[in-house]
Amino acid sequence: MRIGTAEASEGTVAKGYLDLVSFPTGGTEKAPVMIAQGEGDGPTLWLTANLHGNEVAGIPVIHRTVTEEIAERIDGTVVGMVTLNPSGLRSAERTSHYDSRDPNRLFPDFRGERVTGSTQELINEKIFRHIERTADALIDLHCSNVGSVPFSILDRLMVSSDERDIDEVGSLVGDRNGIADAFGFTQVYGSGADRTLEEGLHRSLSGACMNAARIPAFTAELGSDYIVEREVVDAAVIGVRNVMRKLGMLDGNYEKVPNVTDVPRSFDARRTSIDSPVSGLLRKRVEPGELVAEGEAIAEITDSFGETKHVVKAHRDGWVTSFQLGMGVEQGTLVCYYAERVEDDDLVETV
Ligand SMILES: [Zn+2]
Repeated sequence: MRIGTAEASEGTVAKGYLDLVSFPTGGTEKAPVMIAQGEGDGPTLWLTANLHGNEVAGIPVIHRTVTEEIAERIDGTVVGMVTLNPSGLRSAERTSHYDSRDPNRLFPDFRGERVTGSTQELINEKIFRHIERTADALIDLHCSNVGSVPFSILDRLMVSSDERDIDEVGSLVGDRNGIADAFGFTQVYGSGADRTLEEGLHRSLSGACMNAARIPAFTAELGSDYIVEREVVDAAVIGVRNVMRKLGMLDGNYEKVPNVTDVPRSFDARRTSIDSPVSGLLRKRVEPGELVAEGEAIAEITDSFGETKHVVKAHRDGWVTSFQLGMGVEQGTLVCYYAERVEDDDLVETV
């Protein structure tokens, strides 16, 4: 296998670069690629990181899982793309130099039109072609915001009505759920179908893998952005090795993933957000990851003198994944991201 200048060879790690786009002043934007190829045949697992340039914790996960030791032990191949957004890494910004839009909403659309309008869409398309050609599974490593609990997001699979019951759909979702289970982080289901399409979540990398390429994939959120939380990275490194075991690439028993969140998994939950109907200052009443019952207070919005103006209550059982940054909340803006309980959601939507 060859990705850019990285040419895999058995039992070792190949390192190289994939050209993304030429600079107007000469030279090229390149993304570093590592490929650990085992001695025996097996599937290809892709690990991608830093698509949002300020989300850095996935980088050490790749450094610690795409290693010579792994290349000697596995059947199959692990591809690690250390950063999908080199310009964002340099400036510690979420977006890239090439586009003010979220780069994780600009991968190919399953509805056919392979949009190639902007530089960033061309870059994403180029990376995606390599994934489509070679990947049997993918984990896209992200971070949420400061103080977030770590979790995995399971994208929704959008199908047409005549596809609804075919085996491929069920096995794709089953395979994806299987690797996310092996990874071991608390799972949060992707937003509902309307919000998925409205916000372009089907054009996230994991969303496009599932929907446009039909490759099992999920997004892992490794806690806070901007920093590396050691215990979360340790857990993700074990999680990745367990995914390799699930895929039949690595022998040995599943390792226990350290409990980096205390979120109970007794019910399924879907990612949503809660806005404030009033402006004021945020006072948390629960911590991220703490189980909240329907009707219970999540936060208060106070006036400048600390008097309560509004109590933000949970409309369903669930848990806060993270609060908004800072303390000032404007009317109609985000209080927190919330994983809310759902019943009978198989993550497949007919569109
Ligand atoms: Zn991200």
